[in-house]
Parts: sequence; structure tokens; C-alpha cells
Amino acid sequence: MQQQFEDKLHRFDLGYQIEKFGETHPEAAEAITDTLGVGLQIGLAAVTEGGSELPELAVAASRVGEIAGVLGKTKDFVTIAVTETEEGVNVVSSSETALRPAVQAMLKEGEVGATGAGHAEVTGVNAAREMGLTPTGVAASRPVCPSCAAFLRQAGVRILSPLKY
Ligand SMILES: [Zn+2]
Repeated sequence: MQQQFEDKLHRFDLGYQIEKFGETHPEAAEAITDTLGVGLQIGLAAVTEGGSELPELAVAASRVGEIAGVLGKTKDFVTIAVTETEEGVNVVSSSETALRPAVQAMLKEGEVGATGAGHAEVTGVNAAREMGLTPTGVAASRPVCPSCAAFLRQAGVRILSPLKY
């Protein structure tokens, strides 16, 4: 089941890579998209629907949505990230320097809040490491931007929620 999820994420990544490639090589990218387009659409749809199909892997993604829910309208421009660690502790961070009191109040046992400037995903991974934890995956409440995606891949941390295109 995990493998299945990773395959889907991989296909998801591929769409992003083709798009980046298309910025410099539009004709070649078009040919690739023509060839792969149908499969890619199916892959993307599967990722979107993956939540209910893959409960254990969707935990961080659903938790991050739950936490971001307390942000009200600001959830459209403030990102919350949940960073899972090998140690079983989840680090909750935000794209703001500190967690809002409403978010802080949402934290339950096994979750720790993190502070720091910059994107929520990077803040979460860095904070986890500073706490002596080993980050394994990150889910964010808004689509993961290309620079965070690159950072997470570089860090060997799995991206557990959709990427921004
Ligand atoms: Zn980012």
C-alpha cells in the first residue's frame, strides 16, 4: 500500500518536472505530455483521491487540514505544516514566525509546536532536527512550493501532500 502511494507521488512529481522542463523546452515537453498525458491525468486523480484509500499515509495530511481549519479566512495565505519523525513526534509549524494561539491550542499529545521564519515545511524540518528528531515526511495545508519541494527531496523527507504547480 505504501509502495502504491509512493508510485502515485512519483507520478505527481513527474507532472511538475514536465512543467518545469516545458519552460525551457516547450516543444519537447508538449510531445512528452501528449504521450504521457492520459496516464498522468489518471495518476493525478488517484493522488487527489488517495486520502481515503491510504489511511495510514494520509494521517499527516488530514491532521494538517484539521489544524489549519482553526485559521479561518487566513488559511488561504498562512501555511501549516505537520512534520512526521522517526521518533513518532509530529512537529507543527507555520509560515508565520510563531504559531497562532488557536493553533497552539490544537496541539495534542505527541505534537510539538515550532517557531521560525520562512516557509512552514522548512521550519518544521529544521525545528525537528534541532530537537534531535529525524524528520521522515511533511504534509502542508497549502500546496508545497517548488523551493520547499526541492528542500524536502534534498533532505530525504517525503512530501505527503500535493505540490504547487
Ligand atoms: Zn514553500
